[in-house]
Amino acid sequence: MSAWSTKLLHIDLTNKRYSTTELSKEILRMFIGGRGLTAKLLWDLNPPGIDPFHPDNIVVLATGPLTGYPLPSSGKMVIASKSPLTRGYGDGNIGTRAAVELRRTGYQAVVIKGKAEKPTLLKITCEGVEFLNGEDLWGEGTHRTEEKLKKMFGDKVAALMIGPAGENMVLYSTVISEHGRSGGRPGMGAVWGSKNLKAVVIEGCEMPEPADRKELIKAGAQAYADLKNSPSYDFWVRQGTMMTIEWSQKNSVLPTYNFREGVFDNYEKISGDAMEKIKVKTEACPNCNMPCRNYVEYKEDGEPKIAEPDYENVAMLGSNLGIADIVAVSRLNDIIDDAGLDTISTGSAIGFAMEATEKGLLKDGIEWGDVKSVENLIKDIAARRGLGDRLADGTMRLSKELGGEAERFAMHIKGLEISAYDCHAAPGMALAYGTSSIGAHHKDAWFISLEIKMGRDTYTKEKVEKLVWMQNIRGALFESFVTCRLPWVELGLDLDYYLRFLRAATGVDFTWDELHTTANRIYSLIRAYWIREFRAEGREWSSGMDYPPERWFSDPLTKGPYSGAKLNKDGYLAMLQHYYSLRGWNSEGIPTKETLTSLGLEKVANYLYR
Ligand code: SF4
Repeated sequence: MSAWSTKLLHIDLTNKRYSTTELSKEILRMFIGGRGLTAKLLWDLNPPGIDPFHPDNIVVLATGPLTGYPLPSSGKMVIASKSPLTRGYGDGNIGTRAAVELRRTGYQAVVIKGKAEKPTLLKITCEGVEFLNGEDLWGEGTHRTEEKLKKMFGDKVAALMIGPAGENMVLYSTVISEHGRSGGRPGMGAVWGSKNLKAVVIEGCEMPEPADRKELIKAGAQAYADLKNSPSYDFWVRQGTMMTIEWSQKNSVLPTYNFREGVFDNYEKISGDAMEKIKVKTEACPNCNMPCRNYVEYKEDGEPKIAEPDYENVAMLGSNLGIADIVAVSRLNDIIDDAGLDTISTGSAIGFAMEATEKGLLKDGIEWGDVKSVENLIKDIAARRGLGDRLADGTMRLSKELGGEAERFAMHIKGLEISAYDCHAAPGMALAYGTSSIGAHHKDAWFISLEIKMGRDTYTKEKVEKLVWMQNIRGALFESFVTCRLPWVELGLDLDYYLRFLRAATGVDFTWDELHTTANRIYSLIRAYWIREFRAEGREWSSGMDYPPERWFSDPLTKGPYSGAKLNKDGYLAMLQHYYSLRGWNSEGIPTKETLTSLGLEKVANYLYR
């Protein structure tokens, strides 16, 4: 098996057939793997303007050249498709043994299309693909689905699955693995549901042989040791991302009452310290020595259950909804994971509904802090019942339905609900959300930490230049390697390790210059995909697609250290234009023909500039 596997597995659910094709080494060098590869495959294989729920809309599961090797936090994969929520490029990464097992099958990526006649399970092994009846699992939550899959296939297989929300095609349903690992915020679960695909189980046989095994093991061991020696290691393992609640409160970026404020009066009750009091264990994704999957215990009808809260979930279901109770929030988190929903979008959509209720725009709505009603509403969203059915199509669509003032406080960009950092006083982070590849998500650039060091109320070119650099590394490279970015982000692992890892895994001597060009290529290709889909659906693209919600420009904060702060629109627009010029895009955010051509995307250029 080659070090950098060129094998692509194609699965057709309609005809129950599968086949393999070869990727050229040149394509792998240009796009690396993971997100780079999924963007390339979506551009090449999806018909322009396809409905996300059409059987021909492909779903891609992709690993990268570093996935699965004994390198820090390498147990990740990307799941991508055209998004039903945003109708643009959609993806998410997920930390799971399924990533390692997929690598061990020798396939670099899997392309799934078609629609099964009945609920189906796919079993992927080195011998091929089996199409199995999944009717007994249809309707089950992800927790029971996983238990049943283990009974059916044993512990050796790894599984990815959807819950009832995906089956009912809730537009922000995700793919779940290992009790709470969730990937694909922009409705990847709904696309699986539209195909009658309940689960994919994977059992590989051997890892591809790296180009230089000795060096790979040596570089990996040194990096693992550096991580363990980091001064922040112990606290990270104690609290993981949950330590960010206190940090966000201090810096006035904790989303509170539908992003009306950046501070929450009772933040201690949902903090990392509060989580530690009910924590029962910590787990890690494969090949990770800095575990951050904190599991806490809560009771359901007297029976102990576990949940996996992290910062984004707790902020969006806690302060954003006015709920100051870590046990209640963890329980809501677990219900959402079991249903197969995205926690961020669910919290945001419910926060929007609470504010719309308060303002009298939504009849029979929901009140701030009402835990029992939130629980019922989550179940209604997953089942598409009543108000839940309206919320199941996301904040953007409900705000348009309500009309008028509602769109001002609908907290989304391009249709994807904003993740958990308030930006009234953070123009760089607002730009990070505005220009993220999938809509408002922090994965591409957690710029707020750097912005705090650079000054909160400045709208400088330097910030934009740093943002592009950060997006390239986080949003393009880590997503394409595919490994978790947190060793670098949280514990400061030296980025140069990744050049060593790539050389040892693939035999290719990448330089940072080449990798940044690759990142630019990936960003421009994803942007081109959005524009192609918009035009094919009869909508014109404009720079307005990269604007944050009106709330941040016009409703100042009223509490905390940044009371009175709001974004300056002229400043934001100037930063956005500088961003476009750095990426080689025109004033509407469309990659120019010259940019696409210089990045080796001639076919894309020819299509956009026909
Ligand atoms: S740091 Fe956390 S999210 Fe990243 S691989 Fe490790 S356990 Fe998974």
